[in-house]
Amino acid sequence: TGGTIAGAGVAEAGAPSAAYRAAVVSAADLVAAVPGLGLLAELHAEQLLQIDSVDFTDALLLRLARRVAELCAQPDVDGVVVTHGTDTLEETAYFLHLTVPSAKPIVLTGAMRPGDALAADGPANLLQAVAVAAHPSSGGRGVLVVMNEDIHSARDVAKVHALHVNAFASPHGALGLVLEGAPRWYRAVTRPH
Ligand code: ASP
Repeated sequence: TGGTIAGAGVAEAGAPSAAYRAAVVSAADLVAAVPGLGLLAELHAEQLLQIDSVDFTDALLLRLARRVAELCAQPDVDGVVVTHGTDTLEETAYFLHLTVPSAKPIVLTGAMRPGDALAADGPANLLQAVAVAAHPSSGGRGVLVVMNEDIHSARDVAKVHALHVNAFASPHGALGLVLEGAPRWYRAVTRPH
């Protein structure tokens, strides 16, 4: 859907990473840029939107929820990863958590730095999000957010820092973390969605 994970422009501007443009790299190029993704899952990239997440509207949220639900209903789809700007990632994650009727893993991820920044976090976040979405143990947990190796529940997660790559936190802690390409769970949400 866009965001900083699909951002670029640091190199051209020669400026601090705040000078980049969000939502300019295609979903297919994001997938192609991460070595090893194809070993975790058979991936199909889809460009539903290409926006800064502050520009999400109710209509776009509904469009995303309907498309994710449609994909989850397909027998040849095991899970869905949504790449998203971090500014409203928690709102979209919670909306999908409440509205998409599927036990298949739905994982949102993003990045705090654009793809051409030194030590960009997007490629690793995408790899980890796919690892979680592709893992059979990730189903039935509601919508998940994977950022900076942590796996959060959409029920709890919030963006708590404007700059650090460790920008997302949950009041009761993360559900688990991603270790060597697989989720390791420490807790589960037992409240109904
Ligand atoms: N403004 C960007 C967005 O939310 C910030 C980010 O992705 O970190 O799309």
